[in-house]
Amino acid sequence: MTKGNINVSVENIFPLIKKFLYSDHEIFLRELISNATDATLKLKHLTSIGEAHVEYGNPKIEVKINKEQKTLHIIDQGIGMTGEEVEKYINQVAFSGAEEFLEKYKDTAKDAGIIGHFGLGFYSAFMVADKVEIITKSYKGEPAVRWICDGSPEFTLEETEKAERGTEIILHIAEDSTEFLEEGKIRELLLKYNKFMPVPIKFGTRTHTLPLPEDAPEDAVAETEEVDNIINNPTPAWTIVPSELTNEDYMKFYHELYPMQFEEPLFNIHLNVDYPFNLTGILFFPKISNNLNIEKDKIQLYQNQVFVTDEVKGIVPDFLMLLRGVIDSPDIPLNVSRSYLQADGAVKKISSYITKKVADKMSSLINENREDYEKKWNDIKVVIEYGLVTEEKFAEKADKFTLYPTVDSKYFLWNELTDKIKSSQTDKDGNLIVLYASNADEQHSYIQSAQDKGYEVLLLDSPIVPHVIQKLEASKEKVSFVRVDADHINNLIKKDEPVISKLNDTEKESLKKNVEEAIKDAKFTVQLEDLDSNDAPFTITQPEFMRRMKDM
Ligand code: ADP
Ligand code: MG
Repeated sequence: MTKGNINVSVENIFPLIKKFLYSDHEIFLRELISNATDATLKLKHLTSIGEAHVEYGNPKIEVKINKEQKTLHIIDQGIGMTGEEVEKYINQVAFSGAEEFLEKYKDTAKDAGIIGHFGLGFYSAFMVADKVEIITKSYKGEPAVRWICDGSPEFTLEETEKAERGTEIILHIAEDSTEFLEEGKIRELLLKYNKFMPVPIKFGTRTHTLPLPEDAPEDAVAETEEVDNIINNPTPAWTIVPSELTNEDYMKFYHELYPMQFEEPLFNIHLNVDYPFNLTGILFFPKISNNLNIEKDKIQLYQNQVFVTDEVKGIVPDFLMLLRGVIDSPDIPLNVSRSYLQADGAVKKISSYITKKVADKMSSLINENREDYEKKWNDIKVVIEYGLVTEEKFAEKADKFTLYPTVDSKYFLWNELTDKIKSSQTDKDGNLIVLYASNADEQHSYIQSAQDKGYEVLLLDSPIVPHVIQKLEASKEKVSFVRVDADHINNLIKKDEPVISKLNDTEKESLKKNVEEAIKDAKFTVQLEDLDSNDAPFTITQPEFMRRMKDM
């Protein structure tokens, strides 16, 4: 037997990293800005605990394009690196300085918002650059250094001049990646991945018009000045405690998140948990009806304010994919594949937490303002019904907030409904019969006749109603849903007062015979009605199971 070590040579690894580490080349910018952010937040942390004796100030990150040189620059004012640290953190592929930092300062830094953790992000620069330079000066005051690497395992490291603390990364953009020298492209990427990152990001300047003084003459021309063009909002609403936010703040954030969305959301759910995993976020219930961008504007997943993806299938339960908003969790792995994500334990916990949180929110909304909740029901019912059918955890709580509207616009909770109908709507076996219409216009005469008998008729008209009914019949004891045009309705235990018909018995029988012959279909039953209160002299019904067979 022989034992040994598999020899992994760096020469082999580099092209692999370049090709396969990330399927998306554009994420290099996200990675470099994440590093710049980490460097800034580390300095913030070290100054706050008194370990770095420098002025933290108001640091920002700058992104610059130099078209002539074909370079892209990412400049930060963070902790910087000494020559020794460059050797340690940069030259060792897959050694994460971010993880090391968190380990070293684990008592104080767990909420510092440090992003990195695989020690690979930096090398994504080589997906778009054929040469990368680092010019960096540590806050510790040692001489600045310049590191240059052309994507081969060889590098150079030398002392250099740099006035300010921090790091500048210079990418010499490769021939096949010149799109990353376009201002429009970089702006697009910054807005996609970095819109809510915690350190201000400057990209160019913009003209700012100064307000005119109160007593300015009418023909006065306002003065302008060039100011930094900051592309991000470093403190998005989900990072702020809910008690400090007004409804307007939430609405403003919604539009910030979805600039093309003009419809106001119905309400929001602020997520905030730090045990057993970390997660913050805000979910919105959009108005689903005639909402144009609903397909495009999806729930966005962030990790420490860095955009990861808006493909959240598997992380968010299916029925909540109809919602909008953001979820931010450092516990969701950034760089791994979708199938891995779905099997990940943390991700599963996150999914069930969100489900629970939405259920709780629904309960409190209906308790706080029943009338308002009823008004919104039509817009939210698809989500609730979908959840009721597909998520057991959600279904368990759903009686507290699922409404059953009647054709005459009363809204019952399940308990209220059963209380109301238990004395009048049972069949001979003691089953509670819940009558419903699926289309108030088409089933008008059946509805009328049921109402004349004093029955409540629900209006259940959403597309998944057959499944909702199935679910309820399976989970509630002795309950049957019967559509108003089913023959069942005639077998209900009648209320005390008899229905008086203008026709005598013989007349009734002959009419019934005539009609039955006319339709020649034994699957239907003809029921005569009270002519006084009903504009239809009789109704034709069909067994519920027959109808359902057709509907399924
Ligand atoms: P990770 O961010 O997962 O730790 P990276 O490959 O992205 O891994 O970066 C490796 C390390 O290089 C970082 O952890 C950090 O120590 C160092 N580094 C990278 N960029 C900077 C920067 N702009 N300023 C200071 N240190 C940096
Ligand atoms: Mg990183």
